[in-house]
Amino acid sequence: MTFKALVVEQSGEAEVSATVQQLTEDRLPSGNVTVAVEFSTVNYKDGLCLQPKNGLVREYPHVPGIDFAGTVETSDDLRYKPGDQVVLTGWRVGETHWGGLSQKARVNADWLVPLPDGLTTKQAMAIGTAGFAAVLAVVALEDHGLKPDRGEVLVTGAAGGVGSIATAILGNLGYEVAAVTGRPETEDYLKSLGASRIVARSDIDTVTKRPLESETWAGCVDAVGGEMLARVIGQMKYGGSVAAVGLAGGAKLPTSVIPFLLRGVNLLGIDSVMQPYENRLRAWQRIATDLPLKKLDAMTHSATLADVPTLATEILKGNIRGRVVVDVN
Ligand code: NDP
Repeated sequence: MTFKALVVEQSGEAEVSATVQQLTEDRLPSGNVTVAVEFSTVNYKDGLCLQPKNGLVREYPHVPGIDFAGTVETSDDLRYKPGDQVVLTGWRVGETHWGGLSQKARVNADWLVPLPDGLTTKQAMAIGTAGFAAVLAVVALEDHGLKPDRGEVLVTGAAGGVGSIATAILGNLGYEVAAVTGRPETEDYLKSLGASRIVARSDIDTVTKRPLESETWAGCVDAVGGEMLARVIGQMKYGGSVAAVGLAGGAKLPTSVIPFLLRGVNLLGIDSVMQPYENRLRAWQRIATDLPLKKLDAMTHSATLADVPTLATEILKGNIRGRVVVDVN
């Protein structure tokens, strides 16, 4: 019996190629649960994992895919039995361990969570790592005192995966959301998700000489990093918090300590990869209650395994709107 998978192979010192191949089960990595994968996704990190010298993948040939949802086929772990529906995000699956862009995946049971009630495997992947990180960011902001009456919340990289889901959740919770985008054509889309206004990327993506500007944002979910994050930190209201999720605009942070010292601004780091099991369950529960599924459907596109190499290049260029779900079958 063979199964289909996207296989990335090294084709030179600095080149990789990704093709859909038929594999046999004996090629799967070690693990105590084998899952018949139904859906996977394309996240920014999947885009990186399909690039040469990406610093994430250690060995080739490699099967990428940092997320998957499907049905347990075999299990040596008491927590899961054949027929159970499960979701996996993070744990460096798709980086150091073969991932979900495949009809079969073999993983450690500790990395799985049961499919949350009320979600299909397809919806769970429309959420995926991007949505999981977005909800962790919203929860972190709330834990640091954010409430709808404190004022506007900024979402950067708003038309991307993390940004779209953060916008939809915050809008649904009654927050006034200002959405930063470099794609003015996404205005109607972002407003339909829950943004009250659009901020042009060019208005906010370079640092100024002033460490502090007028107090504007009560909170921020930042998917961009770099100069934009530095600029946003100087625009936070007194005591406001920024959840740093991503680096689509760069990994450097050219800021000063002034906003932290004079305005009590908090910079909250968000990691979706190594979150403990209990936190994962809580976050998925919040997604199920706070993310309107109609909005999730509106931000989701479908793709096949063969589409992934092109989509991986496009996501790194910031050209993908919302979320991509990959039907691996
Ligand atoms: P997407 O590509 O879907 O979204 C990123 C968005 O950022 C783009 O759509 C674009 O939005 C904006 N953007 C892209 N390039 C630039 C740029 N040069 N300057 C300013 N804005 C830019 O990616 P994801 O949503 O999947 O991921 C976003 C980031 O979050 C990535 O860096 C990813 O690695 C990180 N991430 C981190 C996680 C964690 O655990 N901390 C988990 C998940 C993701 P627009 O066109 O609207 O401006």
